Order: sequence, then C-alpha cells, then structure tokens
Amino acid sequence: MPAIEDLDEVVRIVAHEMSAHLGEGRVADYIPALARVDPRQFGISIVTTDGRVASAGDAKTPFSVQSVSKVFTLALAINRLDEALWNRVGREPSGSRFNSIVQLEQEKGIPRNPFINAGALVVTDAVIAGGKPSEAITDIAGFMRRLAMDEDVSIDPEVAASEADTGFRNASLAYFLRSFDNLQSPVEEVLEVYFNQCALRMTCRQLARAGLFLAQDGLDPLNQIQVTSPQRTRRINAIMMTCGHYDASGDFAFKVGLPGKSGVGGGILAIAPRRASIAVWSPGLCEAGNSLVGAMALQRLAALTGWSVF
Ligand code: GLU
Repeated sequence: MPAIEDLDEVVRIVAHEMSAHLGEGRVADYIPALARVDPRQFGISIVTTDGRVASAGDAKTPFSVQSVSKVFTLALAINRLDEALWNRVGREPSGSRFNSIVQLEQEKGIPRNPFINAGALVVTDAVIAGGKPSEAITDIAGFMRRLAMDEDVSIDPEVAASEADTGFRNASLAYFLRSFDNLQSPVEEVLEVYFNQCALRMTCRQLARAGLFLAQDGLDPLNQIQVTSPQRTRRINAIMMTCGHYDASGDFAFKVGLPGKSGVGGGILAIAPRRASIAVWSPGLCEAGNSLVGAMALQRLAALTGWSVF
C-alpha cells in the first residue's frame, strides 16, 4: 500500500481504528493519583519539521508525562556533562523491569541506561548539578515550556506528592546509587526533582511540539533554538530506540521502527527523523508498563506513513 501523505487523514484513520480498543490495558495503579484516570481516552498529535500539525482524539487533554520526561532531562544532562555522563550511566537495554534493583547491585551502582529509573535518577542528579532542587525544577519546567512554545505546561502537585508518598522503590534505588557514590546531591533532593519532572502535565500537542528538536539534528526548526548538538541528538534517538520501552523496547522497534519513549501515564513520544515528532496518549498499559493502545497506534501510523527508520 502506498504511504499516505495527508497527515490529517493519517491521524483520523488511526484515531478511528483505536476507538475499538479504548479501555484495553491497565492504568498504572502504584501511583494513586494516576489510578483515577479514565482509561477510555486516546490522543495523537504529529508536528512536522516544517511546522504542520495534525491531531485527533484527546490530543488537547493534559496527562502525566511520567518517564517521557527522561528524554528531556537526558538532553539537559548531556549538555551539562558531555562524555563524562557515560562514566555514571550505561547505554544498553536492561531487559529488566523499569524499577529493578537487582541489576544495579550486580553492576556496582552504574545503571544500565538513562531511561530505567536508576539511570534517570543519575541523570536528574546531573541536571541538579549540586544546585537547589527548586532551581532544577524551575529549569526543567521552563525548558519544557520553551520547547512546547506554550506557557501552559505545568507540574501537577498532586501527582508529585502521590509519587513521593509511595516512592519507596525509587528511594531505595537512590540510596543504592548513593552508596556507590553515584549521586552528588542528597537523596531527598534528587527524589524531589525526579518526582516533579515525572509529574509534568502536558497534552499530546505540547509533547509532540517539545520533541521536535530530536527530529532535526538538535535544532528546533520552528524557533531556531539549537537545543543540543547533532551528535548528541543521534545518541538520544539511539537510546530511545534501544531502551525507550523498558524490557519491551525490542518489540517496539520491531513493530514501529521509530525511536520512542513511553511513560506510565500512558504517553509515548516517537521521533521520525527529518520528518516529525509524534505524541500519543492512552492510559491503559501493557505488562511492561507501556501504553498498549498508544503503541498500537504508532504501529499503524508507521505502516500508513512508511516512516519506519528501517
Ligand atoms: N514516576 C514513575 C516512577 O518512577 C515513572 C515511571 C514510568 O513512567 O515509567 O515510578
């Protein structure tokens, strides 16, 4: 079948097909504030490098970005530490659950990659860079607003508090990292910033817009900000491809063929290099903690557009 070029048509078809699957999967319930979200929602937004936007479904409904934020803190941390970051965190798929502690012990406090929770805590620590947590939170939120070109990006205090109240596993990972001397700031401060970055509330439209620099060599083509270098952009995309869906990353690459990063709020950011940034959202998750309908939608999008990188 020839690729469809009309992106309004693509999102219309995808949203229509996904309507038969709404409610499939399980909403994350280990963070009480996320457990209340209605699973029967789906949004999709595509922003192209030449500024076209196509959206459908609940693309204007804000949701909890959760681990999709890890892509953006990684960009900030690479800009800050450059090569030195890779002494503190690896870049191999983990093959374990996103919050596994076993691997961290075996690998002596160097997390496998920046997208499992332990790795993301190290990245957040690098963003804090010994400064105040409140400043790092302001920096991260400001970065997202600038990239989304929308002041209406906020941090949901209820979600952040709910994560802090129940984040024993993340606290354990952070203390473990500290015991291996792989955190510079106090554990409580790293956790505070991490929970707040996860609690960012964005719509598909805002998220797709914010990810656009990843589709264009680190240069945001719409506001001409060089967010990071072309080489760092390639590396972020490579890590999204190999590690962006936890231990289902291989399956996502197999079915969709685009660098992507998921979050337990049900969002996924996917990048079609040189073409577009795409955000989908549907709260029901698969076993591995990725949006079930979101991944299905991206699989259809890749088939309809022919955008797979392979
Ligand atoms: N805040 C969540 C946690 O650290 C993020 C997990 C995710 O989105 O995968 O548990």
